[in-house]
Order: sequence, then C-alpha cells, then structure tokens
Amino acid sequence: MSPFLIHRVLSGSVLGKLKSAEKLRDGTLLVETNDETQSEALLKMTNIQDTPIKVEPHKTLNTCRGVISCYDLMYITADEIAKEMASQGVISCRRLQRKQTGEMVNTTSVVLTFAWDRLPEKVYVGYEVCTVRPYIPSPIRCFKCNRHGHTANSCKAKPTCPKCAGDMYDGEPCNGPPKCINCEGCLPVYTRECPRLQEEKKITEIKVIEKVSYADARKKYREKVSPTFSRSYAAVTTIKRCSVSCQTDPWIEKAKNAKEKAKSIEKKLTNSIGARKMSKYLPPAS
Ligand SMILES: [Zn+2]
Ligand SMILES: [Zn+2]
Ligand SMILES: [Zn+2]
Repeated sequence: MSPFLIHRVLSGSVLGKLKSAEKLRDGTLLVETNDETQSEALLKMTNIQDTPIKVEPHKTLNTCRGVISCYDLMYITADEIAKEMASQGVISCRRLQRKQTGEMVNTTSVVLTFAWDRLPEKVYVGYEVCTVRPYIPSPIRCFKCNRHGHTANSCKAKPTCPKCAGDMYDGEPCNGPPKCINCEGCLPVYTRECPRLQEEKKITEIKVIEKVSYADARKKYREKVSPTFSRSYAAVTTIKRCSVSCQTDPWIEKAKNAKEKAKSIEKKLTNSIGARKMSKYLPPAS
C-alpha cells in the first residue's frame, strides 16, 4: 500500500496529528497516538480506501509487569491474587518459581501485569504495602539457531546444535566437544556462565525499562559499552535524521519518550505490500 496514502489517511481530519508511526519487520504499522480519543478513533477504522485493515491495541506496549515479594502470598493462588488486586489495575498474576534439588518450587514472589504502561511504586496486598520492582524476563534464545533476541517461529537461520554449535541433524545424538555459538566458548550455549548471556540480560533490562524494541535496546547497550562507536554512530544518525526531518510532518517523527508508547496501537494492514525498506525512511509530507 502506498505510504503516501497511509500518511494522508492517518494524518487526516478524523485523527489529527499522530505522535509517531513506524513500520515493523512483520509489515504491520505501529502507531503511537497522543490521547485516548485518537486511540479510539483509530481502533474504529476498518479500511484505508478500498483496502480492509485490522487495528488492535499493541499487546505489550500498553501494559507493564512488576514483581512483588510477600511471604503472606505464598499460599494464595495466582488467580486469587489477580482477582483481589484487580481494582489496582492488575490484569494477571503469575507465581515465580525456582529450582531446588532438581524440582521447581514456589517462591514468595509473583509477577503482576498492570493494565497501564507505568509501574506503580507500591501496591496494597490487603492491609500490607508492597514495593513493586520492574520484571526483567530471562533473555530470549532461539531454540533453532541458538542465537539471542528472537524465537524459533520467526527464525530463518539454519538449525544448530545447542551443545556443540555444529549443524543440527534431527534425532542424532551429539558427541561433539562443547562449544557455544554465541561466545565461541568451550561450554554449551545454555550454560549460565556465557558472557553473551550476561550481555543479553543487560539488553533485556534496557528493553523493559525503556520500552524499546530489542534492536533498539541492543543499539543502546552497545553505545553504552563502546563510546567510540557511539560517537561516530550518533554523528551518522544526526545527519540522516536531519535530512529526513526537513521534509516530514512532525507527527510522524519518532517519539523521544519511549514510555509514551502506552497509547500506541498497532495497526495491522492486511494487504500491506509496501517495500520493506520504506520503514527506514519517513514518508514526505503530502
Ligand atoms: Zn534463530
Ligand atoms: Zn552437537
Ligand atoms: Zn556462550
């Protein structure tokens, strides 16, 4: 679909100026709105000219997850906790477990999903007050190629062995020497000591706290650990942004504050055939 047309319709009189729009890798368009009114108007859209579209709220950018630890919650089910805390914005609850002598046992901590984008500092567990910490999930590792940051469902790489990093053949037991495909170390990829895994944990933390994509989080992490690289990269970015921004409407410029993405809604263009490369460049003002 023509990016000019999408731009014209989205910035038209019905919606007004939106905060940002970004085409994602799967071809869907991520739109960030300024307020509830815009979100509601956008959610009601069913087509762009003759092309049917599907608009839905983004699954993760409109919610956030936090952890609370409370001994008194130890023997209360996750469902009951979620129900009791619904008035505080809790939409789901999951018990955290840990391995103890080979068995998974419950801990006193639970992960709460809140219906908004910002974590409350504290919540009430009945009469008790609990501090909420951000929930940082374990880094994602692809079970097909064993690289980090994506899942096997979206993996286009060839399968590799998690133990020896060699080519993977179905059903064949591995006798190769241990090697990690990510750090090249002499340990299988799933060992906790992997230095790349430690890096991935920091990237995941940036992704969660700053509410950015995995790719952006990795970029931010690398800029932090390698200032020289960061300087030259920043210079390139500035030039690029500049040349683009002078011919775009302000609404489409990428939002600076990632937290504001709460209001964003993902817009699925069922017939989107726009060139993938377009996502890198912002459409000019029509
Ligand atoms: Zn993969
Ligand atoms: Zn192997
Ligand atoms: Zn490793």
